[in-house]
Amino acid sequence: HHSERSTVWVGPAGHQVPIGPDTFTLLAGPCAVETPEQTLAAARMAQSAGATLLRGGAFKPRTSPYAFQGLGVRGLEILAATREATGLPVVTEVVDARDVAVVAEHADMLQVGTRNMANFGLLQAVGEAGKPVMLKRGMTATIEEWLMAAEYVAQRGNLDVVLCERGIRTFEPATRNTLDVSAVPVVQATSHLPVIVDPSHAAGRKDLVVPLSRAAIAVGADGVIVDVHPDPETALCDGPQALDGPALRELASVCRRLPPVL
Ligand code: PEP
Repeated sequence: HHSERSTVWVGPAGHQVPIGPDTFTLLAGPCAVETPEQTLAAARMAQSAGATLLRGGAFKPRTSPYAFQGLGVRGLEILAATREATGLPVVTEVVDARDVAVVAEHADMLQVGTRNMANFGLLQAVGEAGKPVMLKRGMTATIEEWLMAAEYVAQRGNLDVVLCERGIRTFEPATRNTLDVSAVPVVQATSHLPVIVDPSHAAGRKDLVVPLSRAAIAVGADGVIVDVHPDPETALCDGPQALDGPALRELASVCRRLPPVL
């Protein structure tokens, strides 16, 4: 129980990036790390659009076991090398409690994805890892369940949790998930934690990423996290939702037009 909203700082001492009420943070990068060249190109795109944190999946929780599962530890190494090259702190997903230590060794922020929001053993493990956590909302989770999942992390002594609304499952098939924009102000009224929005995984469609980012900004989100790819047509994971250069520039201009936080 806190009366003031918190800021979570991500990255190495001296280069920390805030996520919280006094700023708007753009996180961007490839859905999956594929090669060093693709990751660096995506990171440079992200940086030139104003992103201050690099996202990228090394361990990919895919619906099909036959789909690309990510490069694992090699992917973490590529992300760490990309941070060296760009200065962008890295957020990446951990899908198994046994991998928390190695992910924490390479990343600046640990992501728990929608499929693992209620994996309590994993939540406890990331709560003990000494790194900030980005906790995505389970696609069938209520807001109360999502906040309780955050408590599992906090209970282990880690209050540096950023919540991420990434769409919930509804009867509507036009988008992959339905972005619950109302979750942002509802959570902000009941929790001190920062809340960001992932329009890429919510919609599953590139053309909706900018409009949904505008919606996220309008309801007061503390940031957005988006997929970018230097060549979305060839992406090994979620190409249809990845922003290319022109779409990313449009998003950048939307973020630049944000009024300063008073
Ligand atoms: C991701 O961000 O790479 C991801 C898989 O997201 P989600 O857990 O929201 O599906």
